[in-house]
Amino acid sequence: MLEKTSLTRRRLLAWLGGAGAAALLFGALPGRAFADLPHLDPATDPTAKALHYTEDASKAPPPHKAGEDCSNCRFYSGKPGQAYGPCSLYPGKAVNAKGWCAGYSAKA
Ligand code: SF4
Repeated sequence: MLEKTSLTRRRLLAWLGGAGAAALLFGALPGRAFADLPHLDPATDPTAKALHYTEDASKAPPPHKAGEDCSNCRFYSGKPGQAYGPCSLYPGKAVNAKGWCAGYSAKA
């Protein structure tokens, strides 16, 4: 009986170790998953079109102001240096860090 308990404990510890390693391994997944999101396309996304989303903030129409782009918008959650990242206004899509739309709101 003692042997069986000890074997069960060993299996449990092995499983937990495996689960911990898996958690460490897959911990990086969200960042990678974000990088793999399809890019927002104003030609096919009605909200992006309505909000005048552009991949290049320097070509954005008014009320765009110099210096405003997705990378410094409160809705953007891409990592610094990343070309594209998620925007909470467009779930499931990645926006260009140098892009802009009329939903822009400066980070606090
Ligand atoms: S809401 Fe902000 S981050 Fe999202 S597309 Fe518009 S400017 Fe970019």
